[in-house]
Amino acid sequence: MIFRTRFAPSPTGPLHLGHAYSAILAHDRAKAQGGTFLLRIEDTDLERSKDKWIAAIADDLRWLCLTWPEPPLRQSDHLPRYQKAVDQLAHMDLLYPCSCSRTDIRAALSAPQEGAIPGPYPGTCRHRPLSDHKPGDALRLDLSAALDHLPTLPSFTDTGPIHPGHHSLDPTHLIETSGDVVIGRKEGITAYFLASALDDIYENITEVIRGEDLFDFTPIQVLLLTLLGHRPPDYHHHRLIRDEHGKRLAKRDDARAIAKYRADGLSPQDIRQMIGL
Ligand code: GLU
Repeated sequence: MIFRTRFAPSPTGPLHLGHAYSAILAHDRAKAQGGTFLLRIEDTDLERSKDKWIAAIADDLRWLCLTWPEPPLRQSDHLPRYQKAVDQLAHMDLLYPCSCSRTDIRAALSAPQEGAIPGPYPGTCRHRPLSDHKPGDALRLDLSAALDHLPTLPSFTDTGPIHPGHHSLDPTHLIETSGDVVIGRKEGITAYFLASALDDIYENITEVIRGEDLFDFTPIQVLLLTLLGHRPPDYHHHRLIRDEHGKRLAKRDDARAIAKYRADGLSPQDIRQMIGL
C-alpha cells in the first residue's frame, strides 16, 4: 500500500507554527516512505472560510518548501457526496431530528478547538422520527443504535508518539464524551468531522497525521466510516505547539503566524528549528 497523507486546514485564518508543524511532519513522513502528501481545503464552514486564506495557506506552504498534487480537493466542491453519506445513515435509521441548541450545532459544524468536542447530548429529541423533521433541525446520530448496528466494535491504529498502538472503541467512553453528535442538517450541511473522514477514504489516505487535539474525534470518525462500509485509515496524532503559557496556538495568534515570521526575514529552516523538526 502506498503511503498517502494529507494536511487539511480550514481556511478561516493564517497558518501558525502549529499548522507548520503538522504540515511539515506529514510532508516529511510521506517523502521518507516514497508516498504522497496532499493538501485539502476543509471549507465546509462556508461563512468563516475565505478565498484569501486559501491563497495565503498555499503560499505559506510553498514557502516552507512543501509540494502537493494540484489542485487540492476543496470540500465546498463536494457537498453532494457528503450529503449522500448523511442520507445513507438516515436510511439505516441511525439519525433523528433535533431542534435543541444552535450553539451546540455550530460547534459541531466548524473545525474543533482543543477540548471543544461537543459534550454528550441529553437525548431530548431522540424519540423523534425523521418524518418529524422541521426546517433548520439538526440531524443527530443515535449513538447507542449506531453501536448496536455493528456486529463487532471497530478499532483503529495510532502510529503517533502520544497514543501509540491499537485502540478498540470503548462504548462507555464514546457515550460519555461524544454522545449523540450532530451529523449535519437536511439543508445539505455536513458536520466537519464526517466530511473530513469521508475525504480520507475518497483520497485513499493511509495515515491521517494531525494534532493531538483531534484525538477525541477519532473514535466517532472510525465509527461513522465503519457504519458506511469503509475501512478507516491509520492515525498519527502528534504533539501540539503551545505558547509560553502552555496554550494551544489558535488562528487568532497572529504573532505566531508564518506570514509574520516571513516578513521578519526568517527562513523555512528557522521555522523547522523553532518547532523542533
Ligand atoms: N480541518 C481541521 C482543522 O483545521 C483539521 C482536520 C483534520 O486534520 O482531520 O483543524
